[in-house]
Amino acid sequence: MNISELENKTVGELSGVGPKSVKSYASLGIETIADLVKMMPRGYEDRSHRVCIGRQTGDGLLTNTIVTVLGKSKFGKGLKSVKAVVEDMETGVRAEILGFNRPFLDHVIYEGCIYHLYGNQMAQDGHRIAQFSQFELKPVREEELMRPDAVINGGMLAVYSLSGNLTQNIVRRDVANALRNITVIDEILPSNLIEKYRLIDYDSAIRKMHNPLCEEDIVNSRRTLAFSEVFYMQLASMRRPAGSDIRRSTEKRVYEQESRFIANLSFKLTGDQEKVLDEIRTDMSKSESMNRLLQGDVGSGKTMVAWISAVHVIAEGRQVAFMAPTELLARQHSQNAAKLFEKTGISVAYLDGEVHGKSRQLLLEQLAKGNINLLIGTHALFSKDVKFSNLGYVIIDEQHRFGVEQRNALFRKGENPDILLMTATPIPRTLALTVYGNLNVSTIKTMPAGRIPVKTFLVDSSRRQEMYRSVGVELSRGHQAYFVYPRIEADEEQQDSSGLRDVETMYGYLSTRQYPQFRGALIHSRLSDDEKIKILNDFSEKKLDYLVATSVVEVGLDVPEATCMVVEHAEVFGLSALHQLRGRVGRSSLASWCFLVYEKNISDDGKKRLSVLRRTNDGFEIAEEDLKIRGPGEITGLRQSGFTNLKYASMDRDIEMMACARDEVAAILKDDPGLLSVGNSVIRQNLFT
Ligand code: ADP
Ligand code: MG
Repeated sequence: MNISELENKTVGELSGVGPKSVKSYASLGIETIADLVKMMPRGYEDRSHRVCIGRQTGDGLLTNTIVTVLGKSKFGKGLKSVKAVVEDMETGVRAEILGFNRPFLDHVIYEGCIYHLYGNQMAQDGHRIAQFSQFELKPVREEELMRPDAVINGGMLAVYSLSGNLTQNIVRRDVANALRNITVIDEILPSNLIEKYRLIDYDSAIRKMHNPLCEEDIVNSRRTLAFSEVFYMQLASMRRPAGSDIRRSTEKRVYEQESRFIANLSFKLTGDQEKVLDEIRTDMSKSESMNRLLQGDVGSGKTMVAWISAVHVIAEGRQVAFMAPTELLARQHSQNAAKLFEKTGISVAYLDGEVHGKSRQLLLEQLAKGNINLLIGTHALFSKDVKFSNLGYVIIDEQHRFGVEQRNALFRKGENPDILLMTATPIPRTLALTVYGNLNVSTIKTMPAGRIPVKTFLVDSSRRQEMYRSVGVELSRGHQAYFVYPRIEADEEQQDSSGLRDVETMYGYLSTRQYPQFRGALIHSRLSDDEKIKILNDFSEKKLDYLVATSVVEVGLDVPEATCMVVEHAEVFGLSALHQLRGRVGRSSLASWCFLVYEKNISDDGKKRLSVLRRTNDGFEIAEEDLKIRGPGEITGLRQSGFTNLKYASMDRDIEMMACARDEVAAILKDDPGLLSVGNSVIRQNLFT
């Protein structure tokens, strides 16, 4: 039976599943029989090892053994209780089974018969014989004794997540019922892959997940199900809808407009920038659309690559959308673009949520007519009424800040536009490869020439004065500084408990006590965008010497003469965030410093974590370290990627498996894009029936 057939059947169709259970299952996300059958237990109770009576180890008195009933009797009020004397078949040790008020046991327990006994032995205060009052007793037939130990002992028992009226026994029964009604679940993976990765067949994988006999069954079942899961996930992301490949197919070329633009830059492109541009041009010449992730440290020149590639597309007569995660960044990009494209004949426009009324109307008209070549903005570019005449290229800055849905909304505005995702929060290679399926990855490793790596110091808070002096020296040379704090304002109550420094208090302190002779400003997320822009403009025009900020300065700010980054309470920031902050300095040929100030109560681990930043300026290494410390689920961007909603596979354990699945899917689609071959028929059937 094909598993998808079970998707039309609700759990309520199973015998014994009433409306109450249907509701309880629903709250666990289980609506159909397919859901129930695919549900992964949250754990297993190991009953595969025999624990003879009186041979229990550890604190518990858990017993799991095979016994013969020597005799039984009824006792207590109304003779409603049943007592049986049993003998461990392996050791001959005897015990008493006490079924208080369980008269039905009289019809279950028979003298001379063999049972599987599972239960907790009662504390033996004074009794000579072991006693059980909480137990499960299941008859074992003579011939079953020939089967493996694990089977007669009860194997591994699935333990499920519960809700409402559900109990383990109810769920076990319903799952067993469902499985009994299915003769065989059809295979969903090609047989060569099952062999290659030493998986088991899908039917067994499902059944063993619910009824494993031993640890090995659980492992094999989970591996198989996890592989199937990531395989189909990759397949979904790599298969392109029919007809999506109808595009030009030209040779890779550099347009004249593009060369002119590059020649007019005040600097020479780095080798890595050239390399990435080459990769992008190659992608763009292909019949299918580009889907590329560009990673590179802050200041490595990614945005410049984006602009140049935009010129490439504009030269082909298509429009470009450039999207940034915040208005602040989007506006900064658009200001830069306005300067860069000033004499190129390329028309640039800016759109965010604040553009209203007539001006918005006008902009949208021009856009629809194709008179705007490059539209820069925030997620406002997703709005329904934003229509391009010929959108050919979508660039997304700091891509991890956008949700998958938002991105897709923009992509749908063009006919399979080329896509460039940029990030300065590098995703470790292994993850990027696997998580993004068909995404190609370009990396800029080298910084523009003349950059001096930022020097990073870890500063014990008791040495803060020294640090203020050092920064003062830089300020008096005409360079600029950032001071970053985790909080906006002093909140009386919280101040006591968290003790975190806040920008308001510290701005007061710095401007009156430390740097009265310099011009500073306070910037944080509560200011309006106009105010922020004004301050940032003043800062980049050197009308201000220092900024006291929250982490709003984290992304994208580009002020070459800023040479000092001070982060206080560095221990409360993530490594990647600190690395981003540090990226605000070291953006010119001037030497720069980053001071990470930590408090006395920092843990050893916390200090070790910070020292990663002192050791390296390499964003990739820092991301790897973040990965080790926090686990992949926590890495920015992965959480929203949808890949953490996995049922069987896990980001922690199965990264390698994801890579394998990706490669296999790529190979299959290359040889047989329509999945028409005999070998791939299982895939086709699973997808289309
Ligand atoms: P990113 O987007 O990777 O943070 P940008 O493209 O914004 O980096 O570049 C950072 C700064 O370096 C900008 O001021 C940019 O004009 C400048 N820049 C870019 N490429 C080069 C280069 N090859 N040589 C010198 N400066 C460059
Ligand atoms: Mg940038």
